[in-house]
Amino acid sequence: MNCDPRSGKSVSFVKIILFSLVLLFLASLLLADEDGDHRPLLGFWGIMAYPRYWMSLVFGLLGFILLQKVRLTKNLRLLFLPIIFFIFSLVELLPLGVFAQRMGLHPSPVCTVSKPFLFFVEGKVIPLAFWVSLLVIAALTLLGNKLFCGWVCPVGALQELIHRIPLPKRFKLEVPFRVANSIRIVIFALFILFVFTMGIEIYEYFNPFEVFHWDLEAAGLVILGAVMLVALFMWRPFCYIVCPLGLITWVLEQFSLFRVRIEPGICTDCDRCIRDNPCLAMRAIVKGSRVRPDCFACGLCIESCPKKGLRYDRR
Ligand code: SF4
Ligand code: SF4
Repeated sequence: MNCDPRSGKSVSFVKIILFSLVLLFLASLLLADEDGDHRPLLGFWGIMAYPRYWMSLVFGLLGFILLQKVRLTKNLRLLFLPIIFFIFSLVELLPLGVFAQRMGLHPSPVCTVSKPFLFFVEGKVIPLAFWVSLLVIAALTLLGNKLFCGWVCPVGALQELIHRIPLPKRFKLEVPFRVANSIRIVIFALFILFVFTMGIEIYEYFNPFEVFHWDLEAAGLVILGAVMLVALFMWRPFCYIVCPLGLITWVLEQFSLFRVRIEPGICTDCDRCIRDNPCLAMRAIVKGSRVRPDCFACGLCIESCPKKGLRYDRR
């Protein structure tokens, strides 16, 4: 029997959050019906009112609150991963009228970074939706590590979910962060080179988010399938090795206000968190490195420390 009063509080806290989310979701459905003529909403707040953007903020902030108030167990995280994937990729397909249309993943996280360069090169105005998307993602990242990547992005959630499929430990790969990040930077440099010299946007050739246009073209399915196959062996390979938004948010998260940090004097250097968590950030956090690999704000390391030596807190 669990006698920890904190766990009782945590359960009711999660219930309140889930209940509020259901209410917000239902309110959006009602608003969507009222706006059935689908008049385009212009301006910053008009775009922010699209469910896709405020739902991103709600889920990012939900992750932020849970990280501080609840010990996120593997099972609780496992519960959220399919929910994140469903909300930010499949709701678009449901017969929910304007609400569903406005949950569409357009621009996708990859396009949010790549397409503005293309518009610039072509002398076109960058649509406001791209700025709003960047602003939401940047605000969440500056608040507390990769809250967008860990609590909103469906490709991120799906990779994490696939990586949970149990395999013998020898099949799980750990690519050194320096190698993964160098490849990510080289791809980004090539993207800049090609876009400015030839107007070619190379990410479109390996963008797993293309599938979420739901025209089910073979190329998109193959790319998503390949990412998920690698994700079986490596934790979030697309995020660490390819994603341009992953690269940008990695730079931003070095300045995050909240982050996972070691409780001074409690860590005994047992390295249990490093062994138990497949992310590439753990070693750098324990060793106190100034520049850290990407942390997806999943909170699992906090749960895995037997001494309660890790906290998600202000830096
Ligand atoms: S880094 Fe990963 S989680 Fe973040 S936007 Fe890219 S694919 Fe999604
Ligand atoms: S350091 Fe790793 S395990 Fe800990 S919250 Fe960040 S991504 Fe999750």
